[in-house]
Amino acid sequence: MGKRLEQLREMLGIVADLQAASSVLGWDQQTYMPPGGAPGRAMQLATLGRVAHEKMVSDDIGAALEAAESEVGGLDPDSDEARLVRKARRDYDKARKVPAEWVGEFRRVTALAHRVWEKAREEADFSQFEEQLKEIVALRRQYVDFFAPYDHVYDPLLDDFEPGMKTVEVKAVFDELRPEQVALVQDIVERGTPVDDAAVRQDFDMGKQWDFGLEVAQALGYDFERGRQDKSVHPFTTGFGSGDVRITNRLDPQFLNTALFGTMHEAGHAMYEQGVAPELDRTPLGEGASLAIHESQSRMWENLVGRSSAFWKGFYPRLQEFFPSQLGDVELDTFYRAINKVEPSFIRVESDEATYNLHIMVRFELEIALMQGTLDVADLPEAWNSKFEEFLGIIPPDDSQGLLQDVHWSGGMIGYFPTYALGNLIAAQLWVRIEEDLPDLRRRIENRQFSDLLGWLRENVHRHGAKFEPMELLTRVTGSGLTAQPYLEYLRAKFGEIYRL
Ligand code: ZN
Repeated sequence: MGKRLEQLREMLGIVADLQAASSVLGWDQQTYMPPGGAPGRAMQLATLGRVAHEKMVSDDIGAALEAAESEVGGLDPDSDEARLVRKARRDYDKARKVPAEWVGEFRRVTALAHRVWEKAREEADFSQFEEQLKEIVALRRQYVDFFAPYDHVYDPLLDDFEPGMKTVEVKAVFDELRPEQVALVQDIVERGTPVDDAAVRQDFDMGKQWDFGLEVAQALGYDFERGRQDKSVHPFTTGFGSGDVRITNRLDPQFLNTALFGTMHEAGHAMYEQGVAPELDRTPLGEGASLAIHESQSRMWENLVGRSSAFWKGFYPRLQEFFPSQLGDVELDTFYRAINKVEPSFIRVESDEATYNLHIMVRFELEIALMQGTLDVADLPEAWNSKFEEFLGIIPPDDSQGLLQDVHWSGGMIGYFPTYALGNLIAAQLWVRIEEDLPDLRRRIENRQFSDLLGWLRENVHRHGAKFEPMELLTRVTGSGLTAQPYLEYLRAKFGEIYRL
């Protein structure tokens, strides 16, 4: 590595350290911090966020970047070095557009909003959170203005989570998906052989649920020497370099799916981060390529693996050992159908594969309306309920099962939700390729052998970190760009069989 690149790397390393320290504080805030810590934590996060931002946009980094650009000019444009400089340039140019005062204010407001949201959610009362959300939306509208001119007011927000993607592209793929998914759900509800999910809705000891989840995560390949699982209100994964990637989860004493698939989902995220090449640590490449690529990993382990008949052929006997009185007499096929029951429901993270994307489309449309100013925060509960009825045919009984269920808005993360649905599509696209490369995949999964699958993902996706932009990575691996067809085919085949359509 050249001397100038070395200098740039060291400066970027300091920014990465500050960001990692922020993430540790954020993890603590959502797991172990006592309520009284909230105001102090808000200040700490604001300070660290501001300092990291100031470092990132400093003239020193600007100069180091220019020097490094000339140094890597002759290298293979796909080399780690050239890609590192390219990504740093992109991050730098974006960060330069955002004033440090805005960043500090945003950190402060969102850190305080987190606790307010938690309480509002607990008490199912949106009005408690309304003022905070107003502030957040106002801040996000300021943020968007820093990136003017743009094609769509939502583009700068989307780009933070999905580099290079445009709102118009997301709309196009959602327009293709929505009618097909709505038709499938209608088919299932009207013509399908009913599925009884009583097996997964019993009293399940929470300690045993936790332990079984840990066993599954370990079997999949989540490395607990470089990770751990704790409890939080909303499950999440956070990493501080590839050597420490943590997951959180929550438990429902009367519904097995919550913790079980939550663990597999977050372990999927964590295995991605654990698989990033260690030499990319402390650089802008040392993380996932985008949230949609991230979500393709979590949803793959949760659904394509975790909700498959092959997986349970291997793991069901073990689950029965954990819960003999609940599941000892339940047939494998009954259990498999129970975990895959399709039913329009209120909670996104617990929704089935056939309805999941419809939850995302509700949020996507509302976020766009909020950003365009065609919807006021005060009118959000009503708008949520009417959009939910339009897409899913049901109306939430209260705000906690409606617009308060997700943590994202309290953290100012507007533009994030579409990546979940895109992740489903990408997972299905990757899976087609994986099945070609690993023809006996099904047998391996039945035998609880996941190392070849994880190895494939490590080689083709994980190790690259953020070296390639998401759609570039997808095209390199699958040979095509984003498309809804593999996901739709997967859904039709799987649920056609389960519901005997
Ligand atoms: Zn996720």
